[in-house]
Amino acid sequence: MKGLMQDWPLLVPKIIDHSAQYYGDREVVTRSIEGPIHRTNYAQIHSRARKVAKALTKHGIRLGDRVGTLAWNTWRHLEAWYGIVGIGAIYHTINPRLFPDQIAYIANHAEDRVIFVDMTFVPILEKIADQLKTVERFVILTDAAHMPKTALKNAVAYEDFIGAVDDDFAWSTFDENTACGLCYTSGTTGNPKGVLYSHRSNVLHALAGNCADAIGLKNVDTILPVVPMFHANAWSIAFAAPMVGAKIVNPGMKLDGPSIYELLETEKVTISAAVPTVWLMLLQHMESNNLKLSTLKRVTIGGSACPQSMIETFEYKYGVEVMHAWGMTEQNPIGTMAMMKAGMENLSREDRVKVKLKQGRPIFTVEMKIVDDAGKELPRDGKAFARLMVRGPAIASGYMKGEGGKDLDTGDVATLDPHGFMQITDRAKDVIKSGGEWISSIDIENMAVGHPAVAEAAVIGIAHPKWDERPLLICILKKDAKTTREDVLKYLDGKIAKWWMPDDVVFVDEIPHTATGKIQKTALREQFKSYKLPSAAA
Ligand code: AMP
Repeated sequence: MKGLMQDWPLLVPKIIDHSAQYYGDREVVTRSIEGPIHRTNYAQIHSRARKVAKALTKHGIRLGDRVGTLAWNTWRHLEAWYGIVGIGAIYHTINPRLFPDQIAYIANHAEDRVIFVDMTFVPILEKIADQLKTVERFVILTDAAHMPKTALKNAVAYEDFIGAVDDDFAWSTFDENTACGLCYTSGTTGNPKGVLYSHRSNVLHALAGNCADAIGLKNVDTILPVVPMFHANAWSIAFAAPMVGAKIVNPGMKLDGPSIYELLETEKVTISAAVPTVWLMLLQHMESNNLKLSTLKRVTIGGSACPQSMIETFEYKYGVEVMHAWGMTEQNPIGTMAMMKAGMENLSREDRVKVKLKQGRPIFTVEMKIVDDAGKELPRDGKAFARLMVRGPAIASGYMKGEGGKDLDTGDVATLDPHGFMQITDRAKDVIKSGGEWISSIDIENMAVGHPAVAEAAVIGIAHPKWDERPLLICILKKDAKTTREDVLKYLDGKIAKWWMPDDVVFVDEIPHTATGKIQKTALREQFKSYKLPSAAA
């Protein structure tokens, strides 16, 4: 027998309809690319998104077509997303930090017909314009007054593009499993692979993300998503915030400590989301200028492991709750969040921080297990670590134009504990294999950045004649700070297992990062491939 509930497909445009209807005057504030702070609201976004939809329809864009966006977090980018999906077309977010050839590859692979692009990224596209086989038109996200001179094909200022139509437009209707968004993984090997979110997965994920034990946005919140819309579906915030009418504060292109601090304070932000590198810049700025946070209550930190010192500084120095999260492009993207559980109320400060250092419990809709190389499930005892497999309605079943599988192999190595908390120990390909055992590079990195002189740390395995591989710790020092190899090793002593102690420490000026801000271990391994550990020479 079928249930007798109405068939109300989970379509993303319904989110912006809802916010315009009930929270129409709630603000969306942006540090614009042109410079000044720009203010709009959900009613305006709704109206202008319908203009985007109408203008795209006029251009011939139809259900299933891909429309690229190469843009910072701004109100125009948000309008473009809703306008694109309102006609059943697919927003394809392009990460500007990719190499130009990779951008050309993914735009061609996605078969983008139109690209919405910020003024700042026009030069990138101009360089690869003759490689872009399918793009018919470029919409520059600005007005006529700021329109750059460009040779890009059929280039038009966004304000002119949508200004040519009115907002009398009804969203298209289609099945909720229709593709909605496309985001390519930043794969360090091989070509990037396209992850295709559906309307259903986006709506379900925004609902799950809005549970109180997840990001849990409320109407009274003001959220500053530093996490860019071009990476991992912006952690779903572009859907979760309008769903409840939370005020959004878009940082535009300025993600440095002083600019973020200024927005947090002037716009009275209550919650924010970013990768650890961004928080590091903010904390350094606040510490060197003796600043406080007057409204910020919670920060979501993910994308890379959140170091212990960051949790302690936010929580105990500034009174801001840390929500450590793990996710990936292939998952819409949130998988787990490290929120306290019933029974943990009386934990000591030290034990509470230990819980927060874990990546957390799965949000509803995410199932997970760890399996060995033979595919056998390993116990949830907090000790066994193995490949993390995930399953759920907002998790990729395959890649665009590629193959799929039943469970998604995250490529991460993790433990699962009896309380349901998952902890990442490494990327499978970064694990250090020493004497038949695995050493977690992430754990050592986490501890090393707690050293007062260390700004950033990376650990890689170096070939060793006896142990196969041994860890090498590579550090960047904080500005004007000084320390020695011996001092760093002494600091780590007692904090990690003896046999995990790095065999050597080196100091460098720069650690390479991927387009999504993660430490690029492949490049580090290449850089240190001839490095001889002192222990290997002995
Ligand atoms: P991306 O698809 O670029 O978002 O990268 C996803 C990968 O980032 C995951 O598979 C993890 O390896 C890593 N990652 C994300 N969040 C965390 C976290 N909180 N701790 C450690 N690694 C993380």
